[in-house]
Amino acid sequence: MTMTDPSLQCIFCKIVRKEIPANEVLRDAHVVAFRDLNPQAPTHILVVPTLHADHLSDFASKAGGAQVTRFLLAAAELGAQFGTDGYRVVMNEGPDGGQTVHHLHAHVLAGRRMSWPPG
Ligand code: 5GP
Ligand code: ZN
Repeated sequence: MTMTDPSLQCIFCKIVRKEIPANEVLRDAHVVAFRDLNPQAPTHILVVPTLHADHLSDFASKAGGAQVTRFLLAAAELGAQFGTDGYRVVMNEGPDGGQTVHHLHAHVLAGRRMSWPPG
């Protein structure tokens, strides 16, 4: 880790390192999942890779196959666990995608009927 490493200031890296608290629902070597502070559905979980990547495109170039697979399967496992009648997985990237935290995360939303198209 160098002095310019983005993970030093990154809020989700701080949650991964347990420097700030989060309501965790899953943790292993590749992913941490925790409740969103501002939930948009009865269940709103964020799945984050333990490896810092700014967004999905960055993750695709940095991460190994095992990390990418685990990230996707963790979202599916949590969706199946909390979404008894289905769920939605969302990843926002860049200004047009509405991304506000620049550490890749998948939103797992469940517990209500979702509308389409998204806003
Ligand atoms: P984005 O807009 O980047 O796709 O989503 C970022 C999400 O992170 C938002 O839904 C926001 O509520 C959530 N969030 C931001 N800061 C924190 C935090 O410190 N803890 C938790 N649990 N969620 C956060
Ligand atoms: Zn980070």
